Parts: sequence; structure tokens; C-alpha cells
Amino acid sequence: MTEEVTEFPHKAVKRVVIAGGGTAGWMAAAAISRMLGRVLDITLIESEEIGTVGVGEATIPTLVTFHRLLEINEQEFMAATQATIKLGISFENWKDRDHRYIHSFGVTGQDHWMANFVHFWMRGREEGLASRYEDYCVELRAAEENKFAHLPRKGMNYAYHMDASLYAKFLRRFSEGYGAKRVEGKIVEVNQDDASGYITSLKLADGNVIEGDLFIDCTGFRALLIGKTLNVGFTDWSHWLLNDSALATQTTAVRDAVPYTRAIAGNAGWQWRIPLQHRVGNGIVYCSRYISDDEAKQEFLGSLEGEVIKDPWPIRFRPGQRQKCWSKNVVALGLAGSFIEPLESTTIHLIQRGITRLLNCFPHVITPEIVNEYNARLDTELQHVRDFVVLHYCVTNRRDNAYWRTVGSMELPPSLRQRIELFRETGNVFPVPTELFAENSWIQVMMGQGITPRQHHPIAEVMSFDELRQFLDSIRASTANTVRQIPAHMDYLRSYCPAD
Ligand code: FAD
Repeated sequence: MTEEVTEFPHKAVKRVVIAGGGTAGWMAAAAISRMLGRVLDITLIESEEIGTVGVGEATIPTLVTFHRLLEINEQEFMAATQATIKLGISFENWKDRDHRYIHSFGVTGQDHWMANFVHFWMRGREEGLASRYEDYCVELRAAEENKFAHLPRKGMNYAYHMDASLYAKFLRRFSEGYGAKRVEGKIVEVNQDDASGYITSLKLADGNVIEGDLFIDCTGFRALLIGKTLNVGFTDWSHWLLNDSALATQTTAVRDAVPYTRAIAGNAGWQWRIPLQHRVGNGIVYCSRYISDDEAKQEFLGSLEGEVIKDPWPIRFRPGQRQKCWSKNVVALGLAGSFIEPLESTTIHLIQRGITRLLNCFPHVITPEIVNEYNARLDTELQHVRDFVVLHYCVTNRRDNAYWRTVGSMELPPSLRQRIELFRETGNVFPVPTELFAENSWIQVMMGQGITPRQHHPIAEVMSFDELRQFLDSIRASTANTVRQIPAHMDYLRSYCPAD
């Protein structure tokens, strides 16, 4: 869907109004006020009465970059949000029941420009020279041993687990420090210009009217501006991503936090465990067509460790994306724009991409070219992420009930089908450079889910037997040596960022 040229009044953007104060709203406020606060007037409206979705506590490494761009101090952020380190995700019971693999944020082995390390490893396996694929990746081995430190020179690639409500509070302080204004209140009316359909102001329940030039819709699943007001359609992906419901809760920690998220497949979906310094975030994600709410609740509560400190709250969702995340003078971020279920913790990343892209092309005056470019780029990125998440469901040996039989045999997006077949036949992936998940991620997950490529690249034959042995042994030894010297994850954090 492209924007019509005639729809665009020639109006300077000076006042930015952010509707919603969840993670999306406050991330937008933080970035825009930090970078453009001196030249823009920024107002965020949030409603305590409505509240936030209350989940979204696992991230991916791009958040480290986002914080660096905004010059957010890592120790202050981690202390304020009770954050822990995430080196990857432990996928349990996905390929088969009682099977586990870790998708880590690290690079495995050492690539040749012609071929990924996996080709050398495959030949090594055939020759009896290679050990587990996991043994050649520092982040993965550190995750297995519950270790973390900021390493000198080439550090580990990591992300965070954090308390979502504390993160919003932290970003609020940060944003207000750069001039963003916060208004408490419930938006009850959205006013539009008759000719252009542009949003002109938001009216609050107390009668206050907030005018703006550019509106950022961060109202979560309500999608008050982009959906309810501008009626931008939604592309539904529930035929590929079956889950539509979740139940979340928080429990006390019964042991030191591990540096990875746990994603534990269940009867008709999966559960997350997100360990923070002060508590654990837990949730079950499921498909209501295959399991009732009561059954899901029973499965969930029956498997929790620690004491429940917040009553479980239900969430319904529809996986998919807005046909346009930017329409007229409204940009939708977060759940208002798209939602690919939480399996690989990608939504906060997508919020961040939306924000950085908006900042890259921030308009003096909104034009259709800017809007179309923004939407096209976001579209492609979302589809790659969607394919990556669907991969976890469709490549599985599990056929133990109707849910797993359905996900294991569903018709795939052609882009994903091609990628799986290519890897199965050749060991190659060839992601495009702008994809969020790079070759290493695809390979770790495809192998973890049970695909072994049928052939390896001939470049792996060029090394002699002894050269290959030396090559593999030296990577494995240096990985083991590095990991040996890393302290336990929580020992490190207790001195690096004692919680506030
Ligand atoms: P919300 O948190 O819902 O915020 C909406 C805001 O809009 C609130 O402040 C609300 O008060 C305000 N609002 C709404 N209507 C009005 C109104 N009329 N007037 C005034 N204010 C209004 N993402 C990850 O990256 N990692 C994860 O691990 C992860 N796990 C998830 C698990 C589940 C089950 C779900 C559903 C999502 C998960 N996500 C995850 C996504 C993540 O929750 C969101 O990306 C993140 O919380 C941002 O949400 P949001 O700000 O868009 O919406």
C-alpha cells in the first residue's frame, strides 16, 4: 500500500505527540528527545488507568547499540531495571521432547570468505575430528556454564533481561531530562483535519487537548490512531503463527539468574522464563484452538518455580503487521504496528528499528516518498523476522498431538521454504545484509531443530586432514580457554551493577 501524494499538506513538523507510555512510547520519547529535543516539542501521553501490557522483558543485542547511540550508561540502566545478561535462548523440547539447544548471540568458529564455518565443521564431523558444534562458540559455551564478563578486545555479544515497568520509569527520567513532557490522561477523542485526514489533536478525559504535527501511536494492541482512527488494515499471520493467547506472571527467584532466556515448548505452545536480579518473569504462549484457557493455566502454574508474586494476567493477541506502519502523520511503533509472537524476543528490537529509521528520515515536512520508503523497509525486515520465528515451529520431529502435527506440516511462506531446502541440501543460508538474524543464528537454529545439511562446500576439502584437525582444535581450545577465565554471571553483575 502506498500513500497518495494528494494526501499530504505542506506542514512543518515541530510538535511530536507520543500516544502511550509503554516500552514503545518511552523508547521513542528517549531517542527523539535525546537527539532532537532542542528543536522539537515532544509530549508523551499515558494513562495509568489503562496501564501497559506488562511483558516484554527479554531483548536482543541491538538494544546495547541503541543505548550506546543515546549514551545511556549501562551500569545505571542495569541497576535501575534489575537487569541481567542474555547470551541467547535455551530452546527446550522443540526438536523433540527432552532435547535442548541454545541459540546464542555469538559467532560459531571462524568463517572463510567462501563458506561459513559450518562447512569445515561438517567435514570435521565426517573425519571424526570435530566435537559438538556448540564447542566453537564463546557465547554459547559461556551460557551453558552460566558465565559472563565484558571481555577486553573482542567482547561477547549480549543482550539484557530487564524489568519492563522499571525500564519505562528509567526512560521517563531520561526523556524528561532532555525536555520531553509527560501528560497523564486517557485519550477519548482523536481530531482530524477534514481535508487531509491528518490527525490534529488528541482530547483527554479531563478536557485537555494536545495538538501536534507528527503523532506516534504507541497505544499497544489498541492501535488507537493507526487502526481505530486511520483504519489502516492489518495483515494477519495466524496461519503461520498459531498462538493467540498468553498468560504472564512473576515469581521469586530460587537460584542465581542464568544468562539466557528459557523457551520451553509445551502441549500447544511454549513457556518463557526470564531471570532478573530480583525476580523471574514467566509466561505461557498458546493457541486457544488447541488448548483451553483453563488447561493452559494448569500447565503453566503446575510448572512454575518460586512463589507467585503477581497474579497471572491474560493477554490475547493476533500475529501480523499493519499494512502501513506510517500513514499520513501517524507512525505506529510497538504492538500498535506489528506483533510477531514473542519467541525470539524481537518486538523491542522492531520498536528500536522503527525509531532509528524515523530519526534517519525525520521530515521537516512529511512527503509520500519518505513515508513509502519507511514502510517498504520495515515490511521486508518484518517478513525476515517472521520467517525466522516460523522456522522454530515447522522444523520439528514433534508430532505428539494435533498442535505439533499442524505446525510441523503447515504450508510455509515460500521465502522460508526455499531457505530451509537450501540449507538442507548445501549448508548455505545467504541472508541479506539488512536481516536481523544473521547466518549464525539461522544455522544454530536449523541445526538445533534437527536439520543436518547433506553436503559441505568443497573449500572444506582444500585443507589436509592435519590442517583441518589443527584448525578445529585451535578454535575449540581458545573457546574453552576464554570461557574458563570468565566469572559466574551473577558474581560479575553483583559487583558491576548492584541493583538500586
Ligand atoms: P503497551 O505496553 O501496551 O503500552 C501501551 C500504552 O498506551 C500504555 O501506556 C497505555 O496506558 C497507553 N494507552 C493505550 N490507550 C490509551 C488511551 N486511550 N489513552 C492514553 N493512553 C493509552 N517483546 C520483546 O522484545 N521481548 C519479549 O520478551 C516480549 N515478550 C512478550 C510476551 C507477550 C505475551 C507479548 C504479548 C508481547 C511480548 N513482547 C516482547 C512485546 C512487548 O511486550 C512490547 O514490544 C512492549 O511491551 C511494547 O509494548 P507497547 O509499548 O507497544 O504497548
